[in-house]
Amino acid sequence: MYEIKIISEFNAAHRLRGYRGECEKLHGHNWRVEAVGKTDKLTKNGLALDFRAFKRALADVLKNLDHAFLNDVKPFNRANPSSENIAKYIFDGLKKKPAIRDKLTLKKVSVWETSTSCATYRE
Ligand SMILES: [Zn+2]
Repeated sequence: MYEIKIISEFNAAHRLRGYRGECEKLHGHNWRVEAVGKTDKLTKNGLALDFRAFKRALADVLKNLDHAFLNDVKPFNRANPSSENIAKYIFDGLKKKPAIRDKLTLKKVSVWETSTSCATYRE
């Protein structure tokens, strides 16, 4: 089995609902996103999936979040824009991209809110 990982970032503001503490106030993060896919098949060039194609698919999902106030972006106008929910949102969006669906099994998406705090979603 082969595993490939890409890393990207986006910048956005959010405010946690129903939370007592600093995070209920409007604030921003530079979120770091790691996506991991796996496959047991390589192309004849020896690739699982071209990293560029993987990154393009992730960038396409992240463009909805980048430089946004997440509480205004669906589904975070209802669901809390927590790192956990953001990781699942990115996972679900990325999994549907044809470039991913055809070549990889998406294994997990991790979202780093700070350099020491990370949430991961996997199915
Ligand atoms: Zn926050």
